[in-house]
Amino acid sequence: MDSSNLKRRGLMFVLSSPSGAGKTTITRALLKQNENLTISVSATTRQRRAGEVQGQDYHFMDIPEFNKTIDNDDMLEHAKVFGNYYGTPRGPVEEALKNGHDVIFDIDWQGTQQLAEMARDDLVTLFILPPSARELENRLRTRSQSTLETDTQIRDRMSKANDEMSHYSEYDYVLINENIEKTIDQAQMILDAERLKRRRLVGLSDFVRGVKDGL
Ligand code: 5GP
Repeated sequence: MDSSNLKRRGLMFVLSSPSGAGKTTITRALLKQNENLTISVSATTRQRRAGEVQGQDYHFMDIPEFNKTIDNDDMLEHAKVFGNYYGTPRGPVEEALKNGHDVIFDIDWQGTQQLAEMARDDLVTLFILPPSARELENRLRTRSQSTLETDTQIRDRMSKANDEMSHYSEYDYVLINENIEKTIDQAQMILDAERLKRRRLVGLSDFVRGVKDGL
């Protein structure tokens, strides 16, 4: 056996943060930079925002449809966030991992905990923090102009940020997003290093045996 027979198990890369900390920008950059990375498109019962595309940003569905997918065991995890339901469709994730792809998830701490219970070894979790409360509010307000969010929705997100942030210590890595380019580079370094973990290499012991036999 030579090293070309070594395969790598796909990993599940979870990014969580309060809204407005830069998670979406980082996710998009990683997807662009990594051919082997696919995104898990979540299902949600929340209203579609201006500019969001069905099947691309989310699978938008009503509550009965969402409940049906849960009853059919078609969700890897699901949770209620900001009064709406969100969940990760199981099929595309399992398919991607089976084909040796890595999958990136933009999900909250509740979903992260559920994934950790079922696949801790394949999971890499990253939490993004804003540099300050003021900066988070600025970013939310700037964004709200393009997504037509109301003041009440923004205030709601600010108070939820508090709740979400109290879970930072459950994550493998924490990055403070002061500078978006730097944070993207750091997230890429984490991904690169995690891909090299010994336990992700399938066939390693056969490979080592082959090398040793030739000595
Ligand atoms: P938004 O409505 O702003 O797109 O997302 C709100 C929150 O829901 C974000 O914190 C996001 O990470 C989380 N979220 C999105 N999709 C999922 C999902 O499939 N599962 C869980 N648990 N959370 C999700």
